[in-house]
Amino acid sequence: MIAEENLNPFVVALAQFDRAAAHLDLDDGLKELLKTPKRQLVVSIPVKMDDGSLRVFEGYRVQHNVARGPGKGGIRYHPDVTLDEVKALAMWMTWKCATVNLPYGGAKGGVRVNPKELSQGELERLTRRYATEIMPLIGPERDIPAPDVYTDAQTMAWIMDTISMFKGYTELGVVTGKPVELGGSYGRQEATARGCQVVIREACRALGLALNGAAVVVQGFGNAGSNIARFLHQDGARIIAVSDSKGGIYSPRGIDPEAALQHKAQTGALHGLPDTETISNEELLELPCDILVPAALENQITRRNADRLRARLIAEVANGPTTPAADDILSDRGVMVIPDVLANAGGVSVSYFEWVQNQYGFFWSEDEVLHHLERIMTNAFHEVRATAKRYGLDLRRGAYILAIRRVAEATRVRGIFP
Ligand code: NAD
Repeated sequence: MIAEENLNPFVVALAQFDRAAAHLDLDDGLKELLKTPKRQLVVSIPVKMDDGSLRVFEGYRVQHNVARGPGKGGIRYHPDVTLDEVKALAMWMTWKCATVNLPYGGAKGGVRVNPKELSQGELERLTRRYATEIMPLIGPERDIPAPDVYTDAQTMAWIMDTISMFKGYTELGVVTGKPVELGGSYGRQEATARGCQVVIREACRALGLALNGAAVVVQGFGNAGSNIARFLHQDGARIIAVSDSKGGIYSPRGIDPEAALQHKAQTGALHGLPDTETISNEELLELPCDILVPAALENQITRRNADRLRARLIAEVANGPTTPAADDILSDRGVMVIPDVLANAGGVSVSYFEWVQNQYGFFWSEDEVLHHLERIMTNAFHEVRATAKRYGLDLRRGAYILAIRRVAEATRVRGIFP
């Protein structure tokens, strides 16, 4: 009988902090401060539905820590969103921005809604009302949202427009992940996957694993997951399985991600793609492969399945896919896990470039964006790996030690007000 784990994402996030902070010389008061969200806003969002009825949704915006700069973090629309999930995601953003050394703190937002059940008009009204309700917290100098699960460039355009209507002028820098036509940055949409591709290449070098011909499994086939599948396929890897919320497909000969995208666009699901077998998300995680990329939601790799995973390398595109107990099992088995705060930091890095371009009113070419992204991700990978080695710990704790030190130092030199 396997002991139950607490899968509340905020409990997981706090445990991850404690496991790393134990190796640092921080006093208890400072640890408490670093664990506590600075601001938590819960809002209700009334929406007039197309059929004339009124529905009320609950939304959140949490700023975990802003010692190093404005809050930064996406907005998630999902029926299972809770305040604790948003608190965890905001805390992970604090460590992520510090891991890759961006001048940002951590924040996150969410609305408890199933966007697949709403029309485009209903989604627009929900988004504009949510933006209005969180307006006291957000702004280019305060807290800058971006896309996350089931939100996209269109969602960001509506938020930007709503805030601009209240201000009386166009406020580009209030959100990132906007369409390129509206102050967005080249490369933002693929940035999370691009950044992950960079750290996977570095990790493969470190492990002596050839990416060309490597067998790759990707869980989650949305923005981040489908793009990492495309990029690794271009690097010569064999994408043997991919999945979305409806289930997965498997082919030992390899799946063409472009064909899978087309099939999903035409039929609404991945299953039924010619020359593939249908598999469940649980089976997918346990397939023998070289590289596993979780790119969906939290708590996919737990004490229950960690010893059955067959990958040599796990790159966490999703936030929070692995529990602390699973981390220990994987680390004992010699599996390298590139933690979310590093593996998916390409998204916030290009969000940072977008915000810089908005503040300057001067825009970069895609080549410039990719050049700076590669530099940030490569440096961060090696800094994290060196820290992990120095302490004899896994990469997650290496990243956390690096990040916690940076946030703690910013807090120390600022001092506690008043
Ligand atoms: P998305 O909405 O584009 O895609 C989510 C995908 O996950 C969809 O394909 C959906 O079908 C799939 N999915 C949902 N539930 C699933 C389940 N139980 N099993 C398998 N697949 C499931 O979202 P996204 O932006 O690609 O985000 C995916 C993950 O990456 C999230 O954890 C998010 O926080 C993280 N992330 C995204 C970004 C970004 O820039 N978009 C940046 C950093 C981290």
